[in-house]
Amino acid sequence: MTQTTAYTTLEASVYASKGLADCKVLVVDDEQSSCLLITTILSDIVQCEFLHDPARVIDYCEKQPPDLIVLDINMPGINGIELCQQLKQNRNTSACPVVFITGDGNAETQNKCWQAGASDYVRKPVVASTLVHRVKNLLQSKLRLDLLTELTFKDQLTALYNRYYLFTEIPTQLKRLSRESKSLGVIMIDIDYFKGFNDRYGHVAGDKCLFDVAQTLKDQLPGPHDSIVRFGGEEFSVFLPDTTQEECRNIGQRMVDAIANLSIDNEASPLGKVTISAGYVISPPTNTPDLEQLLSEADLYLYEAKLAGKARLTGSTEKQNQAC
Ligand code: GH3
Ligand code: MG
Ligand code: MG
Repeated sequence: MTQTTAYTTLEASVYASKGLADCKVLVVDDEQSSCLLITTILSDIVQCEFLHDPARVIDYCEKQPPDLIVLDINMPGINGIELCQQLKQNRNTSACPVVFITGDGNAETQNKCWQAGASDYVRKPVVASTLVHRVKNLLQSKLRLDLLTELTFKDQLTALYNRYYLFTEIPTQLKRLSRESKSLGVIMIDIDYFKGFNDRYGHVAGDKCLFDVAQTLKDQLPGPHDSIVRFGGEEFSVFLPDTTQEECRNIGQRMVDAIANLSIDNEASPLGKVTISAGYVISPPTNTPDLEQLLSEADLYLYEAKLAGKARLTGSTEKQNQAC
């Protein structure tokens, strides 16, 4: 059944939670023998990698975020406590649980570990089953939290972010960008003649179409901090932090072209296929604009694109060009 196809793909992308065996644990210890021992113990339950040099940890985590970090305390250069503080202050790594492993078990050291943001603490000599069970418990909690976060912030049909994400996360992003004097690009998108699509092909095919359009739009996002939200029925909004008007326009146009190139039949459209219309705006970098104001400005450009014949992009650049 077509319905099964759409929902099965969706389940694979949204609900299929990762198992313990898929989790990545990073062991950081300057001592080779200790590092090898911990890695060998944990490799039975998770995917384990190690670094001897603590100075490389932040960079490593930004490129390939682990699910948990096992940290030695006494290391040359930067010690484990300082490194843990840095990890907790970095927004890319702050949610990653840190387990300390050390031979120094006095109360002062233990307190420093908790204050630095540790999730747990294991004494040397390491008892294998204790380390395995503590890591396992922490990872299972993290997996449950990750799944819950996913379900809270994602739309069930398209697997894109939902309105709850939009109105909780994007205003925070806007404030941060404004503090850094950076702009936010906003694109509002609406599928053309979609009521006619449903009328001709049915709602199940309509759901499948929505899913395919959503994935194609998401594939056009250039950066890891760009996001796309299912705003309403067949409407989407795109958020591009730290972008220029030209970049925003190019991405919007790429989205319009990508959907047309999918060539999904829609006899309700004069073009005979599914297309989208889009409108975009850029936030001024100097003051924090209201999210709702940005959305309604982008919506006005979207409305202009509809009036101008659909299957196109309209935005602030076009308006300036027209004024010239
Ligand atoms: P326009 O070209 O002006 O955008 O017209 P339109 O027909 O796309 O827009 P209209 O607002 O008249 O209709 C939107 C349609 O989107 C109506 C509704 O049935 C459909 N729709 C909204 N959400 C869903 C959904 O989750 N699944 C399906 N299959 N259809 C949906
Ligand atoms: Mg609509
Ligand atoms: Mg529409």
